[in-house]
Amino acid sequence: MIPRGRFAPSPTGFVHLGNAWSFLCAWLGIRSTRGDLILRIEDVDVIRSRSEYTLSLQEDMRWLGLDWDYGPDSPLRSDLGSCVQSRRLEYYASCVRRLEALGLVYPCFCSRRELRSIAAAPQLGDMAGDWNYPGTCRSMSVEERKKRLDRGDRHSLRLRFQEERKKYLEFEDLCQGRHILTMGEAGGDFALRRSDGVYAYQLAVVMDDIAMGVNQVVRGLDIVESVPRQGFLYDCFGAEPPRYAHVPLMLDHEGCRLAKRHGSISLRALREDGVRPERIVGFLAWWSGLRERCEPCSPWDLLEGFSFGRIRRDAPWLPANIGDILRSGT
Ligand code: GLU
Repeated sequence: MIPRGRFAPSPTGFVHLGNAWSFLCAWLGIRSTRGDLILRIEDVDVIRSRSEYTLSLQEDMRWLGLDWDYGPDSPLRSDLGSCVQSRRLEYYASCVRRLEALGLVYPCFCSRRELRSIAAAPQLGDMAGDWNYPGTCRSMSVEERKKRLDRGDRHSLRLRFQEERKKYLEFEDLCQGRHILTMGEAGGDFALRRSDGVYAYQLAVVMDDIAMGVNQVVRGLDIVESVPRQGFLYDCFGAEPPRYAHVPLMLDHEGCRLAKRHGSISLRALREDGVRPERIVGFLAWWSGLRERCEPCSPWDLLEGFSFGRIRRDAPWLPANIGDILRSGT
């Protein structure tokens, strides 16, 4: 089986050092095994996504030395379809219908506020409502459900997952080894479509990975808790889950994940200040333990002997002056 991987960025900001790190890993995982690589733009949440970021991220990735075999700028392949999620909405709708036909979907009328108040982990943003969802609307009577639907009440669509989750708690990860999650981490019944009509990340990502034949998924460790929910979706569609590599997250000097406020270490800002891409790749390779020394190199230089097992799992927090360090060339 030819390995097929993907970069799956959400175009919600400029690519920063942490994004560059996970893209580099996805690239190394595929290019070291002569597989092929797709660039898929995860703009299913059109409110947060911007087309200028879709363009800039491709420019930034190319500048860093990363390439892909199929992306938004390639001629359309009918076997793969569009690489842009906002053009795949019909497909997601058909997937939800299939799940409905299996009797696994129910409408959830809980408001965002209600969901937020029960969410144990508010930092999970869009996915927070899935967290330990107590199943409030699951047991609603048929009459009540019909009444509220007829009245046009706002609702999301949820997948019945709660009783299934136990099966999906343990799995083998190329980077983390055997990984075991708790029931709480696996979450409860989760949203397939939000009440504003936006298809949920969990649905879109799995449906696309199945449709595109992706069999190697490389992404940050912050998403590892999605594996059980995604595993269930694979099973619902009779598909084989991919091999996963959840790579360490790059954290700032206070232990926080990188975000837009870390603008000074966006690839764009670094490039504009004259930092060479080899310097960034060399830093990432040293920070992650792939190289002993912090010396400039290209992604291709890292291919020989690459394996996910060589990535250190305890990569350090970034120093507060990381931007200056990279700019100073020391
Ligand atoms: N689009 C997701 C993100 O940017 C990545 C999803 C995935 O790799 O499964 O966080």
